[in-house]
Amino acid sequence: MTNYIDLHTHSTASDGIYSPTELLHKAHEVGLRILALTDHDTTDGLEEAMQAAQTLDIDLIPGIEINTDIGGGEVHVLGYFLEFWRSEFQSVLKVLRDARVRRGQRMVELLNEHDVNITWERVREIAQGSVGRPHVAEALLEAGYVQTIGEAFDRYIGAGCYAYVPRYKLTPSDAVRLIASANGLPVIAHPIELPGLDELRNWLPDLCEAGMVGLETYYGPYTSANERELLVLAHEYNLIPTGGTDFHGPGIHPTPLGGRYVPIEAVESLKAEAAKRRGKTPPPFELPPPEKEK
Ligand code: AMP
Ligand code: ZN
Ligand code: FE
Ligand code: FE
Repeated sequence: MTNYIDLHTHSTASDGIYSPTELLHKAHEVGLRILALTDHDTTDGLEEAMQAAQTLDIDLIPGIEINTDIGGGEVHVLGYFLEFWRSEFQSVLKVLRDARVRRGQRMVELLNEHDVNITWERVREIAQGSVGRPHVAEALLEAGYVQTIGEAFDRYIGAGCYAYVPRYKLTPSDAVRLIASANGLPVIAHPIELPGLDELRNWLPDLCEAGMVGLETYYGPYTSANERELLVLAHEYNLIPTGGTDFHGPGIHPTPLGGRYVPIEAVESLKAEAAKRRGKTPPPFELPPPEKEK
């Protein structure tokens, strides 16, 4: 079945390799007609992506991905059809990105203390936008300390390594509320990797209570058995089954851009839900106090 939908992609606005414009051109080349850009903690790529999408006749869904922590487990929450220009929403995102900067600086300091000499300035240059560990890994690779990005995570910046610094993360329910505060639709990303289905079953009642509307079911590498299991869960909790590849650039995740069949019903259901919220005053969101920062 040829696919023309991908609802999970990243650009240089976070840790993807292609700029929003380049990404849209790649999407066009592989025959995509509907694309969501879901960068980590930032919507800075969206304006550019929307402009490029217009010239290529691609339907661009404004999105985001927010990584959260639930005390031991992680949930990534995608947000779709965001009214991303809302200023309160943008100021919360800025706080999250600023926390990433402080944490990135601390990781570079720890590396420097161990005579691993990369500079924060270089990491910042590599990152362009929202900075993360992949950019630190890239700087380590460039400086010759490792041969692959994976090795950088294994030896220096993976959880448990000396230069690993955890970063400030929202709880999943807060991420849901943050997305809702821009009239967006919160969707649980890649539920099998993170947090895992057993964990997820425990949390789903609370997450749905907070306003979750979808479950990423047609995710890059998921088998048809995975899909069936997720469809059962989605049905049970009245969540929209969505899907995409998590494309960051060639070879970073296993699935190429557009390389996963996503049924059009996913987009239709999201659109119907978004239409109910559009233009309404969204519920306010207040960032939890900074003492939560770890
Ligand atoms: P951060 O949000 O800054 O903690 O970075 C997390 C990102 O690092 C994830 O989204 C992955 O893309 C990437 N990552 C995590 N672990 C690895 C690994 N072992 N190898 C390559 N990339 C990784
Ligand atoms: Zn990423
Ligand atoms: Fe993710
Ligand atoms: Fe992602």
